[in-house]
Amino acid sequence: MSFITKSPWIIHYDGSSCNGCDIEVLACLTPMYDVERFGIINTGNPKHADIFLVTGSVNEQNISVVKQIYEQMLEPKVVVAIGICATSGGIFRECYNISGGIDTVIPVDVYVPGCAARPEAIIDGVVKGLGVLAEKKEKLSERLKRDYIESDDLLDPLDDEIEIKVYGVQDAADAADGKEEA
Ligand code: SF4
Repeated sequence: MSFITKSPWIIHYDGSSCNGCDIEVLACLTPMYDVERFGIINTGNPKHADIFLVTGSVNEQNISVVKQIYEQMLEPKVVVAIGICATSGGIFRECYNISGGIDTVIPVDVYVPGCAARPEAIIDGVVKGLGVLAEKKEKLSERLKRDYIESDDLLDPLDDEIEIKVYGVQDAADAADGKEEA
């Protein structure tokens, strides 16, 4: 099975960041860095997104939100943790309400260090994420092919329960003349 090639779309979620990393993510979308010229769009719909950018660490309040966004994204998908808070909890790691980095809740594919993470590093992380996305697409394609070939539910044209009527030349002519018996 082949996939339709499309530009990568991202969805951005601010876990519990100080907004420093979020400003840098948004800077990537401004004319200064202009990632939209590569077709990268920041979408608000998880079902349209290929790459999940998360800033800040996770706490009891946002664990369910992070999980919901991740689960609503279609396969294949990639998660990029932006900044040291999303990577490990950062300077808030020891806080009473912090559970840790994003990988304590969902699998993370790429970690972008920094406090705050610089736009160049974020773009680099997204590009690395594209490589991971391509690998996942390939694996998913192989798995779907294998499942399709091994499936018992495939339509077998020689199945006895399926009546196949093969018209000969004369049959077709009779049918056209309305001579075929019901
Ligand atoms: S890594 Fe630094 S800038 Fe980014 S959310 Fe954490 S404290 Fe703020």
